[in-house]
Amino acid sequence: MTIPFSGFKGTTLVDYPGKVASIIFVSGCNLRCPYCHNGRLFQVDKKSLISPVFLMEKLRERKEFIEAAVFSGGEPSLYEELAGFIEEVKESLGLNIKLDTNGLNPPFIEKVSKYVDYFAIDIKATPMLYSTLLGADMSSDEVRSNLMATKQFLETQSGKIVEYRTTLYPPVVSLPFLQEMSAFVPRNASWYLQQFVAATAWSKEAQQTPPYTNSQINSLANSLKDLGYHALVRN
Ligand code: SF4
Repeated sequence: MTIPFSGFKGTTLVDYPGKVASIIFVSGCNLRCPYCHNGRLFQVDKKSLISPVFLMEKLRERKEFIEAAVFSGGEPSLYEELAGFIEEVKESLGLNIKLDTNGLNPPFIEKVSKYVDYFAIDIKATPMLYSTLLGADMSSDEVRSNLMATKQFLETQSGKIVEYRTTLYPPVVSLPFLQEMSAFVPRNASWYLQQFVAATAWSKEAQQTPPYTNSQINSLANSLKDLGYHALVRN
């Protein structure tokens, strides 16, 4: 299968913390998070795909002033062939590589781990809610097993940066849910809680859902800290 590269931003200062990076987007996702702001990437539009040759040229042109390449989506781990492209970028350009993923494909994460310096893993909800509210085409047991395998594999990866992230969409993330989700987050990893943005959500329901207040978000983070997690608020 061709990798559906669908977006490229030459310079970003926010997607790889502390480094100047380019970011590459792939289309297609195995979830339908109501708050997703990349809803246009759910479907693969073959007419607007970008070739890997074009992307390599763009990265090579920037090699002197970028330090990293970020692979995001959509969901990058849907495409086995992406592992080869990540390897090519790493080996030929020597860039730091960051992978943004929902963590549901641990074999892919293991496959690319040699070439990835920074993993950002989205833990979205409790396993049950992945299939009932987030559109996952897998059972809650499969979600649980995949997220646990991702966590356990990444715990063995010394020298890599690993962060976990959760978007605070009130219908799927509350304190009891966060407590259940914490099983998939190592206590020593940074766990970023981030606001959901109603204005850019693809789902009409999410567009009308009131977000948590800053004070509620800080309270959720403090509750996780009390449980021994390295919870942080990302603004
Ligand atoms: S938020 Fe991420 S995992 Fe969820 S639907 Fe959007 S791209 Fe997919």
